[in-house]
Amino acid sequence: MAKIAQNILDINKTIPHGVELVAVSKYNPASSITEAYDAGQRIFGESRVQELLPKAELLPKDIEWHFIGHLQTNKVKYIVPIVSLIHSGDSEKLLVEINKVAQKCDKKVNCLLQLHVAEEETKSGFLPQELLAYMESDRWRDLKNINIVGVMGMATYTTNQQKIRLEFETIKGIYTTLKDTYFVDREEFKECSMGMSHDYKLAIECGATLVRIGSSIFGDRY
Ligand SMILES: *Cc1c(COP(=O)(O)O)cnc(C)c1O
Repeated sequence: MAKIAQNILDINKTIPHGVELVAVSKYNPASSITEAYDAGQRIFGESRVQELLPKAELLPKDIEWHFIGHLQTNKVKYIVPIVSLIHSGDSEKLLVEINKVAQKCDKKVNCLLQLHVAEEETKSGFLPQELLAYMESDRWRDLKNINIVGVMGMATYTTNQQKIRLEFETIKGIYTTLKDTYFVDREEFKECSMGMSHDYKLAIECGATLVRIGSSIFGDRY
């Protein structure tokens, strides 16, 4: 069996029922995505708009495209028509823009609230206190064309498993707080997107429902 198909099969064996695999295909050619597609994979994650657009144009229409990278407000209009989930809702400004574009497209866009819990300054997202204050403000309730379906986060890039675990537990804890406070009767609020190639097993132990895996499927991106 071809390598990519084999990797998907192997990873799926380690993912329990109730957790979904997002195959992160960024920097990989459409031919690699086709290999994964032929192995049954339907959810793909991309982090750059200029890469997602041609791929979405070329590849089968039943692919669910997830946008996982930092999104500039001026590029929102290109992806709203084609994405099924935006993981990287990382600021109020961005959410407002997504809502505006979605309204124009007469569409409701599924979106995760991205949390910044890792050490690296380069990672984006709401700080936990910032997100709690924003939710408290109730301003998000005006965004009628956004469907908030959960949270997303990344752990610090480290070999310290205890640190990674604590960060995943923080993300899950905030998810639970939001669920209990604002989304109790909103069935669609159920996603916790966390875990990448090197830490997804730990993320699943901590309650991930979506894992975003790239290099373990497609190989190193160098
Ligand atoms: C690239 C990327 C991933 C996948 O990382 P791998 O280490 O290749 O599995 C997951 N999430 C985000 C936000 C990414 O940018």
